[in-house]
Formats: sequence, C-alpha cells, structure tokens
Amino acid sequence: MSADQPLHSQPARHKVGYIRIQYTMNLHEYQGKSILSQYGVRVQRGLVAYNADEAVDQAKRLSQETGTKWWVIKAQIHAGGRGKGGGVKLAKNIDEVRERSEAIIGMMLKTPQTPPQGKKVSKVLIAEDVYYPGASEPKEFYMGVLLDRATARNIIMYSTEGGMDIEEVAEKTPELIYKEEIDPRVGLRPFQCNKIATQLGLSGGAKKEMMKFVAALYKAYEGSDSAMFEINPVLKTSDDKIIAVDAKVRLDANALYRHPDYVEMRDKAEEDPIEVEAGEAGLNYVKLDGNVGCMVNGAGLAMATMDIIKLSGGSPANFLDVGGTADAARVEKGFRIILKDPNVKAILVNIFGGIVRCDRVAQGVVDAYKNIGDIKVPIIVRLQGTNAKEAKELIDKSGLKVLSAISLQEAADAVKKVLG
Ligand code: GDP
Ligand code: MN
Repeated sequence: MSADQPLHSQPARHKVGYIRIQYTMNLHEYQGKSILSQYGVRVQRGLVAYNADEAVDQAKRLSQETGTKWWVIKAQIHAGGRGKGGGVKLAKNIDEVRERSEAIIGMMLKTPQTPPQGKKVSKVLIAEDVYYPGASEPKEFYMGVLLDRATARNIIMYSTEGGMDIEEVAEKTPELIYKEEIDPRVGLRPFQCNKIATQLGLSGGAKKEMMKFVAALYKAYEGSDSAMFEINPVLKTSDDKIIAVDAKVRLDANALYRHPDYVEMRDKAEEDPIEVEAGEAGLNYVKLDGNVGCMVNGAGLAMATMDIIKLSGGSPANFLDVGGTADAARVEKGFRIILKDPNVKAILVNIFGGIVRCDRVAQGVVDAYKNIGDIKVPIIVRLQGTNAKEAKELIDKSGLKVLSAISLQEAADAVKKVLG
C-alpha cells in the first residue's frame, strides 16, 4: 500500500478498526501510457530520457514521429502533483529541452503526494505538446476507473473539472465528480459511455471520440488486472481529439503472474526501501504511519491485530505477516525490519501456534532479542495455541524487557499501558 491515496479512498477510511491493505504495484506515467496504447486509448506520446543529451535526441525523434513543434518535459516519479512541484515544463525549442531536462533530472521533486523531502528524479518523459499553441482553449477532464469496495463493483469516476486542482474539487465541490457503476454480469454498456460523454458536455465528433475513449480505457483497466487507472487530465483538443495526457496506474500485484511483461515494469527505487528489503527476505511487510510495530503470523490475524491496536488507542506502524513458519531466524529478521522505522514506540508480537509451537516461537523471540542487543522499545508478546502456557513462562523467566500475554485483549491493554 502506498501513502498517496487515490481520490476515492480519502473519506471515512481512517476510522478506528478500518485499515485496508492491498498488494499493488504502481507504474510510471510512461508505462501506464504504454498499456493504454495497447488497448487503443489515444495518449499524449512521449519518449523516456535519463540525461539531457538523450532528452535532446528523443525530442528530435519525437518530432519526426509526431510532427510536434513544442515538447513537455515530465519528471517520472511515483507521485502525482508533479506540475505543481515544478516537474512538468514546456519547452519551445531544443535548447529549452536541454535546459529543462537538465534542471529536472536529478532534482528532489516535492509534491503534495511525495514524502516531505521529495523524490529524486532519475528520468523524464519527453512528450509531444498536445495543447497546440494559439488554438482555442483546450478542455481538461478527470477520469478514473477503480473498484468501489462498498458495492464490490468497478466504477468510472469522472468530472468536467479535470486538471491540476482535482483534489480541491473532490474536497470542496464533490458533487462535480460523477460515478458510473459497472455491472459485472454485463460489463460496461455503450449507453453508459454515451451518458458519460453527454454528462461531460460533449456533442458531435468529440462525443463519439469520448465514447471510444471510455470504452478503451475500461478495457485497459480490466485487461491489465489493475486496481486503479486514473487519467488526469483527459484532454479535448480544439480539433476534438480526446487524449490521455497523464496516467496513474496501480496494478493488482496478486495478478502479476498473468502478466509477465508487467513484472519488469517494477521500479524498486520508487518503493519504500524497508518494504523492498522485507520482500526479499520473504516477509510480507507494508509500512503504515502509526507507532506500534506488529509481527503476526497470517494475514487475517495481522488485520485483526491492527484493528485491536486501533481500538485500544494506538496506531499500527506496519502490517507484517511472518507466514506459517515463525522460526527464530524469521522472527529476528522481522524485529530488525520493524525497528528500522523510527516511529515505532512499542512492538506487539501476536502469533497463533497451530503447527508452529508457541514455546518455539517464544524461544525465537528471546534469541532474537539477545542477538539484536539494543532494543529500546517495549515488546509485548501474545502467544496463543499449542504450548501457549510454556511459552509465557519462557518469556516471563527470560528477564528481558518483554511482556507476555495470552489473550488478545490483554495484549492490547499492555500496548496501551506502555504507550502511556
Ligand atoms: P501531474 O501534475 O503530476 O498530474 O502531471 P500531468 O501529466 O497531469 O501534467 C500537469 C499539467 O501539465 C497538466 O495539467 C497540463 O496543464 C500541463 N501539460 C501537460 N501536458 C501538456 C502539453 O502537452 N502542453 C501544455 N501546454 N501543457 C501540458
Ligand atoms: Mn495529472
């Protein structure tokens, strides 16, 4: 789960006991656009460059291919709001392409969706200018396809108020964002494409183009097993073309096995380094922004654990599923990963001993604690299942700063107490 939430998931998602974890993989704009193109969606075309020389070459190539006279230099990072942060710049000649690319590549780009220190830009997209100089005013729309969890259906969200201030629109005038629900039994129907295009105020050729655009976009979303496709802006040019100018794509990582070609699109440099390290160690770790580290076996138990932390007034710092084999080595690795997060003020270990015996896990916790050495935060261990009593004794006798609990409520109360 990444920190930047798409438009839809902002309201009411942060209530007590309501945490959502979804395994997704974010794409860069240029990658999202390549998927869109494959499904017949018209996109603003572009070529990627890693340095200013390449940028100049790509700009010339792009002009040969598209006839564009101006270019847009666009920072490629996994975050929106790049335009506002100075990561999207128009270049009107080749010298400006070089200048702007030089300025953007290597910069720490700060946008409302990046961490406070920003994100380092290592590549840019040299895109054709689709706003045509001197033409009558182009129109920017917003369109997103995603799963609505409340109805368990895909929806298309769209608005006439697209462009860089869509977050503000969502907050201040949410009635200007429309939703079209798709019935999974029949899929997206032509009348729905018609309705969307009409609602967007289009007629004639532009309306026809928009209907085709919506249908192809939805096909791309479904065909790629995506969790989200957000296009902002969708541009209507003065000559009635409908173009995806931007693409924010979140793939469903659990479906990647069906798309071997997408696996290569992963850019680990854009991901949380702790998450990457955990993944390489075979641990299922998702960083969250709370202060109680959690180590749990099983995803369902992990979700329940995070809920009870919230209910007792804390806030989970992470989701961590150590899996079925909670042996000493994995427990130690889990501790090391959790402790890398400076926000962690306490750790709750919640292991259910079914096949894995609790006393074994307890021994693992004690060993890991000793191996790591200078653990400064209190640890609460709740072991339930086979040999739970023996496990509790083992921990209580260890003389370490580790509290033991058998019931989940006991554990939650202990967390509350240590957090003060
Ligand atoms: P974001 O800020 O990260 O969402 O990046 P976008 O790709 O959406 O681009 C930001 C803004 O740059 C858009 O809303 C447009 O106003 C502007 N922009 C993008 N492409 C072009 C272009 O071809 N020509 C001009 N003049 N402006 C563009
Ligand atoms: Mn955008």
